[in-house]
Amino acid sequence: MISGDFHIHTAFSADSEADVHAVLNSAIEKGMKTVCITDHWDADYPEKYEEVLFQFDSEAYVRGLETVKKEYAKKLDVRIGIEIGMQPHLGSFYKELVNQYPYDFVIGSVHVIGKDDPYYKDWWDKYTDRQMYQKAFDETLSNLDQIEDFDVLGHIDYIVRYGRRQEEAYSYERFCDILDEVLKKVIASGRGIELNTSGWKYGLDFCHPHPDVLRRYRELGGEIITVGSDAHKPEHVAYDFKRAEEVLKLCGFTYYTQFRNRKPEFLKI
Ligand SMILES: [Zn+2]
Ligand SMILES: [Zn+2]
Repeated sequence: MISGDFHIHTAFSADSEADVHAVLNSAIEKGMKTVCITDHWDADYPEKYEEVLFQFDSEAYVRGLETVKKEYAKKLDVRIGIEIGMQPHLGSFYKELVNQYPYDFVIGSVHVIGKDDPYYKDWWDKYTDRQMYQKAFDETLSNLDQIEDFDVLGHIDYIVRYGRRQEEAYSYERFCDILDEVLKKVIASGRGIELNTSGWKYGLDFCHPHPDVLRRYRELGGEIITVGSDAHKPEHVAYDFKRAEEVLKLCGFTYYTQFRNRKPEFLKI
């Protein structure tokens, strides 16, 4: 059984109002033994979306979670992480940010492409689905070249969620050249990827990344794989983890990964 959710948001993220206690209680109810809170930090987020600021007071965040960690110590192993929004020019900024505090785990995710966030519809009008997906994967590769301070690459292929026809324009085969480059680069650098169950929550019939990509990652020698719900609400903690377990086994994994002090730990599925 997978008993560690390594991608969870709380009210420290601009797009979540989740109370950390409610989140941790939900994790215990769902049988989790370990969780890692990974709130958003997106530096230099485009100004045109100025209603949100994906940043937090690091000191308050880490100290607050340390207190909660002690409070739950007998019931749940709480780890402290962060999800950084990568952009190729932010390598040195994030180096400083994530090394300022003793984080257990850093997810590197691509939320901004050029100066756009595909979450917003203005971006969709400019490109076909296929062009959007290609741009997102190209940007992912550029980020891997420029940013070193993260442990796993977050939600590869979540761009498909925002496509007009979603998976109709997407398959591993269609983007295999660029996806293989991304996966090989991740593996060669000693990092990993995550299985993010939010694709199912958003109504896609696959998790992120698609099982074909997970299988390919394994084939190429990828071993580090964390599992995360990307919950922004307490009830979504450990969302569809049973299904995640089945997918991992089908893709050839016998272990999944958790992080402590930025070091991977491997647990039997
Ligand atoms: Zn994300
Ligand atoms: Zn997230």
